[in-house]
Amino acid sequence: MKLLIMGRPGAGKGTQAVNIKEYYHIPHISTGDMFRAAIKNGTKLGMTAKEYMDQGLLVPDEVTIGIVRERLLEKDCENGFLLDGFPRTIHQAEALTAFLQENHIRLDAVLDVDVPAEILVRRMVGRRVCKKCGATYHVEFNPPKTEGICDVCQTALIQRADDTEETAINRLSVYDKQTAPLLDYYSKQNLLKTVNGNQPLDQVFEDIKNVLGA
Ligand code: ADP
Ligand code: ADP
Ligand code: ZN
Repeated sequence: MKLLIMGRPGAGKGTQAVNIKEYYHIPHISTGDMFRAAIKNGTKLGMTAKEYMDQGLLVPDEVTIGIVRERLLEKDCENGFLLDGFPRTIHQAEALTAFLQENHIRLDAVLDVDVPAEILVRRMVGRRVCKKCGATYHVEFNPPKTEGICDVCQTALIQRADDTEETAINRLSVYDKQTAPLLDYYSKQNLLKTVNGNQPLDQVFEDIKNVLGA
């Protein structure tokens, strides 16, 4: 299974990616996670990415395309992968198409987790993540068993630096301008499969399995 998962910031891509990764046994490649890991490790890439991420802006294409190419060439991607949060611009999508063609790789589907923008600020502001294992929660919609503590590894949960109301609003408008045109791009390639992301988490995953037909 070679998949892309798209959707507005906060739509539930990361949450569903965990389900998809387990169900289809494919690596989950999230550019946002890769940038956050680089920031944590204090690398040059992390320093560049942080400048943009903190403002809710996209990290420049040259940087982003390079790390994705490298990652997709790793051995574990041979039998499938789930790309989450990439591509986010037409330029990135074109670079990905060229890369896939050069390497004789065909995508099976592009999932779009569709959620109206109005409800997404609340999803982002209430998001809590485990800094150790990466598990994602929501203070109202998907709370951990013990407040502020990860169910999986018992580590304290944190709020992402870019999950403030102001940055969330910026990210939604960046999505409209720079990322929304990709839906048309993949629809024209007959790859786009839209699922309603404004439903309970488990139902969204049921719908994903249905549209993927497996
Ligand atoms: P994305 O990766 O698209 O930014 P996340 O998967 O991190 O989104 O989800 C954003 C927030 O919304 C998280 O706090 C998550 O727990 C919550 N969430 C995800 N899916 C749903 C859903 N179907 N209903 C309610 N809240 C959800
Ligand atoms: P979300 O879907 O909730 O916005 P992500 O974790 O996918 O969160 O992305 C967080 C931030 O990382 C983005 O706002 C952007 O600054 C940066 N980023 C992630 N993926 C890309 C990408 N493909 N191109 C440019 N910037 C990216
Ligand atoms: Zn954890």
